[in-house]
Amino acid sequence: CIPVKKDNETIYHIYLEESFAKLPEYLGMLGIRNKRLCIVSDSIVDARYGDEVAELLNDRCSKVVRFVFPAGEEHKTLDTVKLLYRKLIENGFDRNDMLVALGGGVVGDLTGYAAATYLRGIEFIQVPTTLLSQVDSSIGGKTGVDFDGYKNMVGAFCQPKLVYMNITALNTLNDEQFFCGMGEILKHGLIKDADYYEWVIEHMSEISERKSDVLKKMISASCEIKREVVEKDPTEKGDRALLNFGHTIGHAIEKLMDFKMLHGQCVALGYVAASYISYKRELLSAEEFFEIRDMNVGFNLPISFDGIDTNKILEVTKSDKKMEAGKIKFILLKGIGHAFIDKTVTDEEILDAVNYINADC
Ligand code: NAD
Ligand code: ZN
Repeated sequence: CIPVKKDNETIYHIYLEESFAKLPEYLGMLGIRNKRLCIVSDSIVDARYGDEVAELLNDRCSKVVRFVFPAGEEHKTLDTVKLLYRKLIENGFDRNDMLVALGGGVVGDLTGYAAATYLRGIEFIQVPTTLLSQVDSSIGGKTGVDFDGYKNMVGAFCQPKLVYMNITALNTLNDEQFFCGMGEILKHGLIKDADYYEWVIEHMSEISERKSDVLKKMISASCEIKREVVEKDPTEKGDRALLNFGHTIGHAIEKLMDFKMLHGQCVALGYVAASYISYKRELLSAEEFFEIRDMNVGFNLPISFDGIDTNKILEVTKSDKKMEAGKIKFILLKGIGHAFIDKTVTDEEILDAVNYINADC
């Protein structure tokens, strides 16, 4: 159990478990009983885990309602949120009631945003079921939806009441989705912790085989890194932006590929590009840079994309919300484990880096 604090006070706990069974007990510890609960899931997660979780929560609540939307990033939109609001209104949800985000990062981001805005804010908990959502998106209170194809353009900071992870749920993830999570995990090591990065590389085969003791260690180490960063800077006024390593170019690729490439894959590709800029600036050695690139291959993550014009990526990168006074806030590396914010990256450097990962160039 990992406590997450704000101003030295614990605001919620992260629990790592091997089933969903303890969820009612932890809700009880928070004094949560006799509320209406709405379990929000996508179609795939609901089919696998919806009945089990609903049954477990039934005893603890006055009413359990389920809201299910089609799986996929293309449904992380205000249209889906609107349908959720409607479901809550139809079932008489008020400020005392609560949402349960059961699913990956798409479900978590969307549910958190609905919780932040419905009746000016109701409580929610995160029950993340993908590797990516367990190590990254469920922690830190960033919620939101995509708008007009722009990633996370509409959102709010809203902290969950608890984060409950059942790591055995990862067994049903397909390989592509599993390795997407490795994109954010490698990112954690690259920006903050060289030893952790090396540990992940050393355990590549056990991780790929999803050995549960190794996964548990890895998930809890990544949660610790994310916790530490978000505790120091909950609303991204400073160093929390380091978590955006790989996301500046990654989000542009995600948008231009019409979300056909997955978030974790785009991030991994984006950080190869950002590492390339760092390497060209002689902040990373050739050995370090090529290791970063090769680890993507090792963990089934991409090292190139095709079918998009490099100039288009530059244009979209510059319209991303990570701009400040007309300058892109880029995250670069000064050696493995040491990320920093840089606002001096030029268009030429971006074009050069994107050409490097563009299979058509
Ligand atoms: P996702 O939620 O789309 O889940 C991926 C797929 O796996 C979906 O098809 C889902 O139905 C399926 N799935 C989920 N759990 C499963 C399970 N246990 N077994 C079988 N299938 C399962 O995607 P994701 O990769 O979890 O999250 C990506 C999203 O997270 C993006 O929208 C990204 O922007 C967001 N994100 C947010 C933050 C944040 O701080 N809020 C951080 C990183 C990423
Ligand atoms: Zn991400």
